[in-house]
Amino acid sequence: MKSEWLTIGLLVDEFESRISKFIDAESFVVSSGTAGLHCAYAVIGLNPGDEIISTPLTFVATHSTAMAFGAKIVFGDVKQTTGNLDPGLVEKLITENTKAITVVDYAGHPADLASFRDIADKYNLYLIEDAAHSFGAKYRGKSIGGIADLTIFSFFPTKNITTGEGGAVASLNPDLLDKARKFARHGLVRNSTKFKMKPDGPWHQEVQS
Ligand SMILES: *Cc1c(COP(=O)(O)O)cnc(C)c1O
Repeated sequence: MKSEWLTIGLLVDEFESRISKFIDAESFVVSSGTAGLHCAYAVIGLNPGDEIISTPLTFVATHSTAMAFGAKIVFGDVKQTTGNLDPGLVEKLITENTKAITVVDYAGHPADLASFRDIADKYNLYLIEDAAHSFGAKYRGKSIGGIADLTIFSFFPTKNITTGEGGAVASLNPDLLDKARKFARHGLVRNSTKFKMKPDGPWHQEVQS
């Protein structure tokens, strides 16, 4: 508030680079965890009729953001010990329309990511991790954020850290992350090295997607 810049500015750049360092994966911030999930489903090319396998034990945004693209949510069940999606029950839910598995790290306890990674790779599916509860958590020594194809954090006041409203998207896949960042920023490109047209002034910017 005391600087002369509100929203997407230098402090946001710094926050993003500190998050990326902390979780050891590239990331960018968004206005909410819900916005992050929306980005994730957009960049995997979710279309009407596609199916997302997920957990029934979560907040509505995990699924409403996929339904906004016309996707069908196929529910698995959770393990009694963790409240997390049970990988053993997921394989039989996969059809030719399945596009992704979206896990939730319930109450901060990471989902069984190794098993879900194996299933996702075997059937060529995306693994999306709704990590709204698990910023700062580790899975087998590795920080949450660098394991699933796309990981979403929320900084809503009820989560591990808060920015009032806010969220982040992380990935180890630079191509997916770049697409997600572009989607979050209206497809706008302001980096002159990435321009496709000849700039016609200092305010030149391009909507490339
Ligand atoms: C809070 C939450 C979200 C949504 O995050 P917002 O920042 O409130 O939009 C999504 N998924 C889960 C599991 C959550 O707990």
